[in-house]
Amino acid sequence: MKVFIDGRFYDEKNAKISVFDHGLLYGDGIFEGIRAYNGRVFRLKEHIDRLFFSAKAILLQIPLTHAELTRAVVATCNKNKLREGYIRLVVTRGVGTLGLNPNRCEKPSVIIIAGKIKLYPPEMYTNGMDIVTVATTRNLHSAVNPAIKSLNYLNNILAKIEANLAGCEEAIMLNSQGFVSECTGDNIFIIRGRQLLTPPLSAGSLYGITRATVMDLARQSGLEVSEPDLTRYDLFNADECFLTGTAAEVIPVVKIDGRVIGSGKPGPLTRQLLERYHELANRSGEPL
Ligand code: PMP
Repeated sequence: MKVFIDGRFYDEKNAKISVFDHGLLYGDGIFEGIRAYNGRVFRLKEHIDRLFFSAKAILLQIPLTHAELTRAVVATCNKNKLREGYIRLVVTRGVGTLGLNPNRCEKPSVIIIAGKIKLYPPEMYTNGMDIVTVATTRNLHSAVNPAIKSLNYLNNILAKIEANLAGCEEAIMLNSQGFVSECTGDNIFIIRGRQLLTPPLSAGSLYGITRATVMDLARQSGLEVSEPDLTRYDLFNADECFLTGTAAEVIPVVKIDGRVIGSGKPGPLTRQLLERYHELANRSGEPL
């Protein structure tokens, strides 16, 4: 595998950054997880847009333009002959001193890794997931805004550890008011009749790109889509529940905190949305 670092390609074993990079020392940086399907990079513009929004929020100057980043992602995929896979785009604050101050960092670093991802076992897509709500609440907007896709993922990792301890792959995180926010690496949806519901972004979730795509697909299928505040009660009493994410795509949830959701099997609308998502992903995106 060849890894892109600051304009050059390195073999996997030589793809290294400094121990003084503030991305490592303080989690000071941002990233995107992107998918390629069938020789195209899906939703690349949206991912690069979101990277620039995250950069703006943390006052980080990405050393490449939108167009240059697009070309770099495509070049990294092509260098690795990747037609199908997962791309990790990272921008770190760069090499600095042993102190928090980002002004002491010389220049942000851009890293692109194009490889494969296996997030959840395939049987979870056919049988559905069993997930739990955890005690770790989602970050406050006024602290580390969850909309920033930063390298500081400890909030999510703490929740993931709780999920693991409960024998689950994913965890529902509530916000400080007790409303459902999202999962550790996925957005959450429920279906009630012909209604598709997902927490509002103000509940403390990432502005998920898969979330937006699935909402569009649902509207096209005639579902009524809304974003109300949701509680665990709403989840427990849903007809169907699923999670979305670039890596996860659309994954059904059949049990939450011991409560069986709907029929206890992946619901028909969830399965239909996953199918439509695959269809769309396989025929659109930046060509490689
Ligand atoms: N929430 C969190 C916390 C995430 O890290 C992610 C991405 N893995 C998502 C939601 C899903 O976002 P997207 O659909 O843009 O991948």
